[in-house]
Amino acid sequence: MNESNTRSASSSKRDPGSPQAAPGTDRIIDSPLLSASGFRHAFFSRQGGVSAPPYDSLNFSMTVGDREPDVAANLARAASDLLCLPHHIVFLHQVHGVDCHIVHHPNDSPSIRSRSGDAVLSRHPDVACAVRFADCAPILIGDLRSGAVAAVHSGWRGTLLDIASVALHSLERLTGAPLDPVAAIGPHIEACCFEVGHDVAAQLRAASPDPDILRTGKRDRPHVDLRAMIHAQLLRAGVSEDRIDHVRGCTVCDRERFFSYRRDGERGGRHLAAIVARRQR
Ligand SMILES: [Zn+2]
Repeated sequence: MNESNTRSASSSKRDPGSPQAAPGTDRIIDSPLLSASGFRHAFFSRQGGVSAPPYDSLNFSMTVGDREPDVAANLARAASDLLCLPHHIVFLHQVHGVDCHIVHHPNDSPSIRSRSGDAVLSRHPDVACAVRFADCAPILIGDLRSGAVAAVHSGWRGTLLDIASVALHSLERLTGAPLDPVAAIGPHIEACCFEVGHDVAAQLRAASPDPDILRTGKRDRPHVDLRAMIHAQLLRAGVSEDRIDHVRGCTVCDRERFFSYRRDGERGGRHLAAIVARRQR
């Protein structure tokens, strides 16, 4: 099982002309596995942006009450880190379902942003496939064979529906050949904080390929290990054990680095996780 690194955005050598994060901030949390596989990507933390509290500072949602120019400035910083144009970062109106949208050309980006769905796929190297999250799990996937990528939003409802495997199947249809995938599961509400009702716990356990996803919390209520469940789903969908990276971090526990819907409610920021297709030689 691979483990992630936190890389300081201020020390990033990707684009010397880009707006820099404030000294000491860690805007980008990356997956060493995706980096080693040649995929530009980032799980963005809440640090190194321009938004004011309670959206401080790298918020990517315009619907939570933040100022639009600040969100646009944050997107520009993310685009600079990803070496793409801000309007080529494609995310959806996320609805905890399994609809996947393919971006065939960067010019399609604005129209696709208005659609509902929970996974964005592309094989175009100028498009950044993205999801926004604050407790739900982001999954970034790259296909070593074709260079195509997918960004997946997998909260508990999406995980229950196995959106990871739906996205992998969509990616395979897009490329027209069997995949050779690598995947990274990003920060989210980890088992330490993901207390649920007994009904939700029972549904998830029944749907999980790995039955060992429940922990007992302090209040005799079940806690769900969403990471373990998604890991098992990726394995079942054909991703090999050594091709799954774990970019760890609990969005609820770690207030310094993460926004959390459960901790902060509606008036809080949303993260971005994004990946760019690999240019094929
Ligand atoms: Zn926690």
